[in-house]
Amino acid sequence: MSAPQMSSEGLGPKLARWGRSFLASEVAEVSKPVAGMLREAGTSHLRRDVERRRALYEDVGNFLFAHDLDVTPLNFGLALDYITGNDLAIEKAVRAILSDRGRITNGVAEQIIAEQRAEELSPDQLGDMLNEVERNLDTLFGLTDQSRESAAHFGDALQKQAAELKGEAPAEAVANLISITRSMVEKTREVETKMREGQKQTRLLQRNLETARRAAEQDHLTGLPNRRAFENTLHEEAERARKEGEALSLAFCDIDHFKKINDTHGHDAGDRVLKFVGTLLAKISGDKCHVARHGGEEFVMLFRGYTVAEAATIVDEARADLSERNLVDRKTGERMDHVTFSGGVADVFSYEEPRDALKAADRALYLAKEHGRNRVYIASEAEN
Ligand code: GH3
Ligand code: MG
Ligand code: MG
Repeated sequence: MSAPQMSSEGLGPKLARWGRSFLASEVAEVSKPVAGMLREAGTSHLRRDVERRRALYEDVGNFLFAHDLDVTPLNFGLALDYITGNDLAIEKAVRAILSDRGRITNGVAEQIIAEQRAEELSPDQLGDMLNEVERNLDTLFGLTDQSRESAAHFGDALQKQAAELKGEAPAEAVANLISITRSMVEKTREVETKMREGQKQTRLLQRNLETARRAAEQDHLTGLPNRRAFENTLHEEAERARKEGEALSLAFCDIDHFKKINDTHGHDAGDRVLKFVGTLLAKISGDKCHVARHGGEEFVMLFRGYTVAEAATIVDEARADLSERNLVDRKTGERMDHVTFSGGVADVFSYEEPRDALKAADRALYLAKEHGRNRVYIASEAEN
């Protein structure tokens, strides 16, 4: 369960870490020895790094100022994520608001962050579960200690009786042995019952944790894996493909003019369209292809063992398939306009990090939208 902890990290620590690294380079710039070193070594890359950070700092500041946003860790983190694109979901949410309303307010910023956090398993829920596991383990360890102690205790008593057996009247010694054995059997049964109860509790807990883990990785509406699950899969598959020398491609798909579908047929019909597209795309998934809902009306796909051109062909077939369907809103019987999506595909290993490939696919998707939608574009490596 390391992923929920990782992704539920608040903006405070993120900001503090970023700030520390920024300050560290600022100090490096102003301290004389380091400045001298920079000159002597003629290494401009350190200076460039400082300049880059300074520019980023200014960009974040300008963004906050332009939108009249309070300087809070939350707003600072949001601006940083938007400008760097490090958190793709936040970057896209901010971009959507900006294109929709032209500006962002404190309230909207809070809402975006809250929506991102709502998708995560809350730290409180996770904490409660872990506390329960801890309590259970304590009980089981306690029982093990207890049973070890009583076994040692009975062992001693038996040995003592065995040693005294020679001197005593046999009948008395046998009676003693029987009584010791009886109480040992009784004690063992007692511990056994408690152990069984403990095991039952642990199994129940295990099931609860498994359910929570699955819920945390599944999108409620479409039943597909969610962004969190996809990010884990992406890293696992990248490692696997690298080891096996296989290709790895990913695709970003976004339903075209989805807002219009909502506006025309209502949000519930929009939900049904999302489910339908999810089911259609899920048909592609298999051992080497993973499909997930990235959020909103966006889907992501990962293809192991497929070149970017092969992956693009598969995505394009799904695109063509959807675009030819005549959808009807089952609730109202109303015909819908043709539903289409646009896609961007990228080769994961052409980029330093899988996350960069995701960004590249998103840029290709953006171009596909610009050039008319209902098309699939391959990310140009020249843009790296
Ligand atoms: P484009 O072709 O440029 O992608 O246009 P678009 O209208 O699809 O894109 P835009 O980002 O402007 O709007 C996406 C809409 O998707 C806005 C949001 O209300 C809607 N949406 C996001 N999640 C859901 C959902 O779970 N259900 C429904 N019904 N609508 C959703
Ligand atoms: Mg979108
Ligand atoms: Mg869209």
